[in-house]
This record gives sequence, C-alpha cells and structure tokens, in this order.
Amino acid sequence: MLHIPEKGIKMKILLKRLFVALVISVYLFSSTSCNQPQRYEAEFEVMGTYLAVTIDGETQSDAAAASRAVNDEMQRINSLMSTWQADTPLSILNRMASEGWTEADGEIISVLQEAMQYSRLTDGGFDVTAGPLIRLWGFLKRSEQRPPTDEEIQDAMAKIGWQNVEIDNERSMIRFTVPGMEVDFGAIAKGYAVDRALGILRESDIETALVSLGGNVGVIGLPAGRESWGVAVRDPRHADALLGTLSLDTNFDGWGVASSGQYERFFEYEGRRYGHIIDPRTGYPVEGVLGTTVVAASAMQADALSTCLFVVGEERGISLLTDEPGAFGMIMLSDGEGSMRIRISKELVEYFTLFEGVEGVKVEEF
Ligand code: ADP
Ligand code: MG
Repeated sequence: MLHIPEKGIKMKILLKRLFVALVISVYLFSSTSCNQPQRYEAEFEVMGTYLAVTIDGETQSDAAAASRAVNDEMQRINSLMSTWQADTPLSILNRMASEGWTEADGEIISVLQEAMQYSRLTDGGFDVTAGPLIRLWGFLKRSEQRPPTDEEIQDAMAKIGWQNVEIDNERSMIRFTVPGMEVDFGAIAKGYAVDRALGILRESDIETALVSLGGNVGVIGLPAGRESWGVAVRDPRHADALLGTLSLDTNFDGWGVASSGQYERFFEYEGRRYGHIIDPRTGYPVEGVLGTTVVAASAMQADALSTCLFVVGEERGISLLTDEPGAFGMIMLSDGEGSMRIRISKELVEYFTLFEGVEGVKVEEF
C-alpha cells in the first residue's frame, strides 16, 4: 500500500498539494453557478495517504455521516490488506502460505484474482507477488533507501511469480508454491477502496460525489449545476505541476481515474532516481514512460491498468487499452529535452483539456 516514508515530509507536502490541487480543480469547475446547493467536503488520512470526499446537494449532517462511513470502510480495507502492518490478515497470509494451504479472507481472494488477471494480460509485468522486490528496494519500510546489489535482486526475483499462487476457491484457501513469496496490493487496493466507497455512498442515497484516495478518483452523478467533474491530471515532468483536466460527464457515472508515475514515490542515490514501480522481470525500477492515466468503468480497473501501462510501455500499453472494455487512457512519454508526447485513447480526447501555458506537449490519439 502507498504510505508516507519518514524522511518524506516533502512527500507529505506533495501529497497534500496534490490533494489541494485536485479539490481546487473540482471546485473551479463546479462552483460558478448561482443557487448552488450545499457542498460538503471532508478529508481523512488512510492507507498512508489522503482521502478527500466531496458531496453535493445533501444536508451537511447526511453528507458528514456518509463520508465518515467511507472513511470507516477504507480503514477496514487497510486493516485487512495492508502489507505495512505485520498483523493484517494479508500480512499473516503472506507469512503462512509458503508453508501450505492457508485459509484466506474472501475479499482478499477476490482482489487477488482480479490482480492476477492483469498479471496474465501483461505477461507478469504487473505482478501482485512483486512484494519481495518492492521490499528489497525499500518501498515497504520507513528508512534510508539505496539500490540493492545484483545478488540481492536475484534472490528477491526467485521469490516472485504470480503463477506460483494457487487458489482453492471452494475452500477459500491459498498457497504459494515457492517459499518466501508475498502478495502486495499496492497497485490495486486504492482503486478497490474507491469502488467500495462509491458503493457505500450509493447505499446512503448520495447522488453526487467525488472520492479521491491519493489521486485515485471515483465519481457519482454530476456536481451541482455543472455538466462534468473536473479531475486534474499531473504533469509528470515537474514536481507539483498540473497538465490538464479530464471532464467527466454522465458517461462516466461510477467510473474511476488513476495515474501512475515514478514522481509519486522515489528515492535518489548518487544522482540517480529510483521509483517505486518495479519491473519484476528485470528486478529494477521501470524507466521509459513518464506517466500514465487511466479512466475506467471501475476505480480498481483504472488503478491496476495505470500501473500495467507504466510497466509495459507505449506499444503494449496501447494494445492493452484497446482490448480492455470500459477503459481509456493516456501514456506520457519523453520526447526530447523537456518535451512530452501523449498517446491518448481517441474516445478520451474530447474529455481532456490541456491547461493554458503548458508547453512542450504533443498529443497523438490512438
Ligand atoms: P500509487 O500507489 O502511487 O497510486 P500505483 O498504483 O502505480 O501507484 O502502484 C504502485 C505500487 O504498486 C508500488 O508502490 C508497489 O507497492 C506496487 N508495485 C510496484 N511495482 C509493481 C508491479 N510491477 N506490479 C504490481 N505492483 C507493483
Ligand atoms: Mg495502480
């Protein structure tokens, strides 16, 4: 799961700004009408990041109750699936499943199965068992980070492979056929949590809401008096800069948006930058793509796919998106000094607007 490293006060500020930027953008794009019904906004800390809930058109107390329920649900998911804490059911499963068949929570199994679909689609580029490598690179603890040795990388890679996870659905059991394996939901759990949040809001009869968990966004309905939610997309070239807006209208009711990039969590060592998305096939942080953004029918799909695209790169990424129903996206690629090329699904073009003043960007649809 995403978290805030100790040395990362900077990170905390960054996330905070990202959150503010998002909400400002939502606000800008939805606040200009007269007779605006009440807007309710709440912010929580969960899964090591910020959760922002925006609800329109409800009484403050109903909206507050609904957003508390969202926060409770996300805290519950975190205490079930975090690999940051040693005592969660997922951490316990990780320690036991190499020994043999281990009873597993049904919700963990279902997220695991979903994740494994993406491993299949990316030939292991997205790998829910990348845990040992992520841990080795220091992205699962709060301490100084340095690149591991080749030997350490080889050792960790020997413990990775989604095909080595066996699931017995009938008995709700899991086993790892290779010792030392670990499952990590860092690339999918936030999206899952956002989907659950939207479900809870709908159950509470909320008709208009935006939920953002560390930049994983889900929307319901439309903001009061407006025709779309504006969701800001970051410019991966510059810390804290925004690239443009996705305007999500009623075609995207209940959909999610997620972005991936090495700008979110990384460390620097001897002048080089190492990011938190690791290619399990090489053992090293992925380089090549600057950033990815996916808009999909579920926030979990968006979350998983944004990471998938980041790992597989431009060509495979495009075919992955073209084949995936209910998912569109953007792949941002370096195009020489400071310039960027964006490959974007043709279906998404009309919903994306570059911010004025953003320079050095070429947009090419596919
Ligand atoms: P974020 O968590 O910042 O929103 P992502 O959704 O792209 O970004 O997820 C990145 C996280 O996924 C990493 O912090 C790590 O926990 C995990 N991860 C890293 N590399 C892989 C990979 N190749 N396959 C699956 N999960 C990965
Ligand atoms: Mg992801």
